[in-house]
Amino acid sequence: MKQLILIKYGEIILKGLNRPFFEEALVKNIKAALPEGFSGTVRRSQATVYVEPDDPDIIDETIYRLTKVFGITSLTRAYVLPKDIEEMKKGAAEALAPILQSIRSFKVEAKRADKKFPLTSPQIAREIGGHLHDSFSNLTVDVLSPEETVMVEVREQNAYVYCGRVKGAGGMPVGSNSKATLLLSGGIDSPVAGYMTAKRGVKLNAVHFFSYPYTGERARDKVLTLAKILAEYTPRLDVHIVPFTEAQLAIKQHCPEEQLTIIMRRLMMRMAERVARKTGAKALVTGESIGQVASQTVEAMAVTDRVATMPVFRPVIGMDKEEIVTIARNIGTFETSILPYEDCCTIFTPKHPNTKPKLDKIEASEQRLDVEKLVTDAVAGIEVITV
Ligand code: ATP
Ligand code: MG
Repeated sequence: MKQLILIKYGEIILKGLNRPFFEEALVKNIKAALPEGFSGTVRRSQATVYVEPDDPDIIDETIYRLTKVFGITSLTRAYVLPKDIEEMKKGAAEALAPILQSIRSFKVEAKRADKKFPLTSPQIAREIGGHLHDSFSNLTVDVLSPEETVMVEVREQNAYVYCGRVKGAGGMPVGSNSKATLLLSGGIDSPVAGYMTAKRGVKLNAVHFFSYPYTGERARDKVLTLAKILAEYTPRLDVHIVPFTEAQLAIKQHCPEEQLTIIMRRLMMRMAERVARKTGAKALVTGESIGQVASQTVEAMAVTDRVATMPVFRPVIGMDKEEIVTIARNIGTFETSILPYEDCCTIFTPKHPNTKPKLDKIEASEQRLDVEKLVTDAVAGIEVITV
């Protein structure tokens, strides 16, 4: 029996949006997420995307991969039946036998998108429900809280029968809402911030500040591993590795110790913004959360953002560490994030960082640096790695 994957993308989020644009972005991302060497068809009709592999054995893997595509609300393995009620009864019993044999109660829900089909939705449900009830002596009908709901959809070309759905990633298709540059460290928070931004349809690229030899190859690999996990949600992620040592050493040499962190962060912002502008990104994204560390006070972020001319998004701003960790675990970045490699920030962390920096004092200290040259040189030394 022919099988395929029915993908629903929730019509609510289509409201007020340019629908064909949204749908095309979704189909493009679905195609990009298919297993390597996929052969089969992908088509879209009536708020559903149909993915039909030539080999039904790859359906589970395909569904798993598609659970990471934003914009999808649910996915299900469905069996394709001819639009004939007798065939549908037989087909449903045969296709769903493994499930129906192992439960006690069920109900059938039918949807008739093709209004020319001779039976109404309640009639279809009754016919098929009756047949399944007769075919499986273990089954009783329970319309209120059945163990499984058998879904029957009669659409333009075929009828489809299925049981159960897998929840999709939700959100909006990546690429449907512009592009942003993520400041990606090796920590727990920034990958989560990137995930949350991508979820709203924003395509990402990333910058990582790398302080060789204070941070080594392993730290770099760790960031690239994180980027690879993120790239399952936002494909083709360009990671811009920015050589940051010069800037850090200059700050350390010329600026007061308690200001190191804030000045460093202002330099990061300037460099990240150069990358963003060059790559068509319209905003910056960081993993900051109010009060988590000294540089994440409201005052510090205010002083940091004075050098940014584009919006700085901080999707985890109001979250507790625990909440961020929960998401990190769900998206698969946590285990990598907690690997114990040095980050450039931890190396130059002052003992008593200024938690309430004053803009004029910070600007005065920066006068001792050739900020423009530090930024230009660092950006000129960028290595781009696409994961
Ligand atoms: P994270 O867990 O994301 O590393 P954190 O709690 O350790 O965050 P900080 O180290 O103060 O906080 O960094 C705050 C934010 O600045 C990070 O979330 C990230 O967006 C950015 N950032 C910090 N270090 C780097 C780096 N080496 N490269 C790129 N971005 C960085
Ligand atoms: Mg960090």
